Amino acid sequence: MRIDFEHILNKIHQKVTAIDDKGTVASYIPELAKINKHHFGIHLRTLDGNEYGVGDFDKPFSIQSISKVLALAQAASFVSNDILKRVDVEPSGHPFNQLALLEIENGIPRNPLINSGAIVIADILISNLKNPKEDFLNFVRDLADDDSINFNLDVANSEKITGFKNYAAANLLKSFNNLENSVDEVLDFYFHQCSIEMSCKQLTKAFYLFANKGHCLLNKARLNESIIKRINAIMLTCGFYDEAGEFAFEVGLPGKSGVGGGIVALLPDKFVITTWSPGLNKKGNSQLGMTALEQFTSKTKLSIF
Ligand code: GLN
Repeated sequence: MRIDFEHILNKIHQKVTAIDDKGTVASYIPELAKINKHHFGIHLRTLDGNEYGVGDFDKPFSIQSISKVLALAQAASFVSNDILKRVDVEPSGHPFNQLALLEIENGIPRNPLINSGAIVIADILISNLKNPKEDFLNFVRDLADDDSINFNLDVANSEKITGFKNYAAANLLKSFNNLENSVDEVLDFYFHQCSIEMSCKQLTKAFYLFANKGHCLLNKARLNESIIKRINAIMLTCGFYDEAGEFAFEVGLPGKSGVGGGIVALLPDKFVITTWSPGLNKKGNSQLGMTALEQFTSKTKLSIF
């Protein structure tokens, strides 16, 4: 039976935007606190060649931790299995910026999607790229086939000024010899990576290869199929921090959230979907984005389970 995606997305948009409790916009990065929490957008791209957008699907926002998946993908293409010597692939069951486990586990982060793990991935990229920030940005632009994508320097700077916990994480990693480069250099890269702005539509396109066995939508950029399989597994088990179980339970897709309010999720061989609603729940994931995705997989009956 053909699914009427347009109708379903319109219905979800109508229902979800009517919800009063939109969560709380992240304020620990002061620049993000300025965002209006009434924004809401969804963009869906199916692998059979159709795309649908509702609401603010074309408006760029801060992708924040969604960038960790793209950084991991680029790092994996250089060092592959060696990454596992420096970062594990187990869910942490703790918030994204928690440090206790890192100390107990001798500076090996639980996974590459919590902050400490992403900081190790940033270190790997700096060691392997000629012009790290520029080369990473170009990698993202290539995946999305869109040269208009850029860093937001105000957001990067805002996070640098208030990023005490990330400095603590990087110093801890350094003390365990799990950073090759200086703390300042690694965090400068990390804050820039998180500050990239993209719309739901651009994110859907950039993540297309995760649903398409490593092949991009339009251009020749591609990643090894087994890397894609593994990164999808990491998104499913670790993409939502201490809410990864809840996301698998309610939505049933690999995905990744960011404190800018974006969520990208995908069903291999079928579709990629991105939602944006800046208000976060207590675990730091977009409150209405989670609700919208739960409704999407319930209404379409399309999930990995
Ligand atoms: N840049 C943010 C931080 O390091 C990313 C966190 C997130 O999106 N969960 O705190």
